[in-house]
Amino acid sequence: MTEPFPADRAAALQRLRDFTPRMGRHYAEGRNTDPGPGQRRDVSWLSPAIRHRLVTEAEVAGAAVAAHGPRGAEKFIQEVFWRSYWKGFLELRPGMWRAYQAARDADRAAIRGNALARAEGGATGIACFDAWVAELREAGWLHNHARMWFASIWIFTLRLPWTLGADFMLRHLRDGDAASNTLSWRWVAGIQTPGKHYVARASNIARYTEGRFDPAGELEEDPAPVEAPPPPRPGALPGADRLPEGPFALLLHEDDLHPESLLPAGARVAAIAGVAVPEARSPLGCSSLVAQGVEAALADGLARAAARWGMPAARIAVTDLPAWAAGHGLPVVTPWAPVGWTADRLAGSGVAMRRLRRDWDEACWPRATKGFFPFRESIPTLLGRLLPDQPSASAR
Ligand SMILES: Cc1cc2nc3c(=O)[nH]c(=O)nc-3n(C[C@H](O)[C@H](O)[C@H](O)COP(=O)(O)OP(=O)(O)OC[C@H]3O[C@@H](n4cnc5c(N)ncnc54)[C@H](O)[C@@H]3O)c2cc1C
Repeated sequence: MTEPFPADRAAALQRLRDFTPRMGRHYAEGRNTDPGPGQRRDVSWLSPAIRHRLVTEAEVAGAAVAAHGPRGAEKFIQEVFWRSYWKGFLELRPGMWRAYQAARDADRAAIRGNALARAEGGATGIACFDAWVAELREAGWLHNHARMWFASIWIFTLRLPWTLGADFMLRHLRDGDAASNTLSWRWVAGIQTPGKHYVARASNIARYTEGRFDPAGELEEDPAPVEAPPPPRPGALPGADRLPEGPFALLLHEDDLHPESLLPAGARVAAIAGVAVPEARSPLGCSSLVAQGVEAALADGLARAAARWGMPAARIAVTDLPAWAAGHGLPVVTPWAPVGWTADRLAGSGVAMRRLRRDWDEACWPRATKGFFPFRESIPTLLGRLLPDQPSASAR
């Protein structure tokens, strides 16, 4: 039994409504506890929906502020901004994604012995870790605290390369995201904030799993952080494009499936298509659960776009993009695909596209120049700018 993750916007909005009353005190007090599959009442499990923007960060943060005020929902809002911070961090340093891919491939080529197969097969003998592997494979999701323990045990107890753990998670997570996943793994390893690593402790696991697990004596609890160069300095955020004056063809993809709030009223959509390349997450592809989730989200985005602009909306292959673009002869407009596999494949298609960025990303991403704590200081300002309909949004 697992949480019923919302597969489309209607289900995501329903989950948002159901969880909103718990975004304040319940979230702040309960978010670190993982009572196990099907029992989690104090986290939203909205991440697969937010990741595809079946609901947007603005909608989720807006619901939290409206229900609890910016102080009452402070913890929940901060976590939503962690996502925006990681996205911005990678967007300002796209070379980190390429460096991760190169290190992952080198680590896979160099690995010897059975330890990797045992870890991925959930056969390490560490009961909590093996249970999380099974849950990741079956549910396509893990609680945040479990992800932290999982990554820490992978790196420091099993002594496996962090890149291969990040790759394993990415292949199985419904919410798999280039920025949140890569940079969270780096953070656990101690190479995102150099020298500061996250060490999973048996007592912490026992406490926050409410005694479901107690790996006393099984974990390396005094490891040194992984050594690696610090993150590169940030570059400038590449400029986004403007909407053409005349008609255009709209191309949707898994990074942003709410075109209704991206495009202004009166936008002259003249053709619609969608692409998805979930298998491009890794040279080893992705789980069938992940592929199904991405296809369902894309189908929902296309169906809503078709209804909104009154025309058919087709799911096409990336290889068909040049013919589709040439066929209608219109400028192609697409939501900004952040650094990751979709952006890589779209860039490789050879089709010129106008890439639109949301106000949310435009405001948040350039601020991801240093650590999260300086970024966090700007949350009240960001809320005031991004949620202007919430009178108390910018109150400290
Ligand atoms: C090793 C590791 C790998 C991770 N990989 C991913 C990933 O690929 N995709 C992903 O979306 N998240 C990732 N996370 C972050 C986090 O674990 C998930 O976003 C969160 O568990 C989702 O559950 P929820 O929707 O119930 O979150 P809630 O606690 O209800 O939070 C609401 C929303 O805020 C965002 N959020 C919350 N915590 C974080 C966080 N720490 N970092 C970034 N965003 C956050 C998510 O969009 C989430 O849906 C990873 C964390 C770790 C430690």
